[in-house]
Amino acid sequence: MQTLYVVATPIGNLEDISLRAKRILLETPVIACEDTRHTGNLLKLLGNESPKRYISIRDFNENQVIEKILMELEYQDVALVSDAGTPLISDPGFKLVRAAKKIVPIPGPCAAITALSASGLPTNKFLFLGFLPKKWEIRPEETTIIYESPMRILKTITEIRSRYSKSRIVLAHELTKIHERIWELGFENWDLQIPNKGEFVILVYRGADSDQSYPQE
Ligand code: SAM
Repeated sequence: MQTLYVVATPIGNLEDISLRAKRILLETPVIACEDTRHTGNLLKLLGNESPKRYISIRDFNENQVIEKILMELEYQDVALVSDAGTPLISDPGFKLVRAAKKIVPIPGPCAAITALSASGLPTNKFLFLGFLPKKWEIRPEETTIIYESPMRILKTITEIRSRYSKSRIVLAHELTKIHERIWELGFENWDLQIPNKGEFVILVYRGADSDQSYPQE
């Protein structure tokens, strides 16, 4: 059984690819990815000149393609990537990783951790919710990290503000890209500050009781 490499790729800025990720992607003959064209372009930018086999893996077809990828792994290495960031983090690959026998992670960019590291909110304890499920809550005394689309960002923040009026909310927009911005929302007119396009991470912190908005130093 050969190796399944789980390779993190940039979330916007190509310079964030690690030397190791680049080498593994250039050396590995089979690439499991979401959008084969997108990943093909990334490989081209990395200077790939050797023939590769791309296998598309998405949430809806993961069960079917697992067998195919496991067969490849019988005799050659496979690299798993997603369109951006770390595979499996709100992206496909979970079932494949469970099924594979030899896994080597190649760490790198992840929007959640990138946003947390620059948010100014407590980092000692945090909860990653990904895209919000139907039922959710913001637990006290830990920073909650949420992924959100530009279509739903206003609605979601309005909901957070109405449930936890004094919580601190930080938005990380277009991380690592030209228009990157990371800012804490004020308590008034905050809705006017939110762009209607681009990618967002929402970070929320509420104190021990819901009236306490700042962590105790
Ligand atoms: N696997 C990725 C990772 O490691 O971060 C996340 C993939 S998930 C399908 C996409 C979501 O991640 C976006 O909707 C957004 O919430 C967040 N995201 C990805 N790239 C981002 C960026 N450059 N700036 C802000 N948020 C980003």
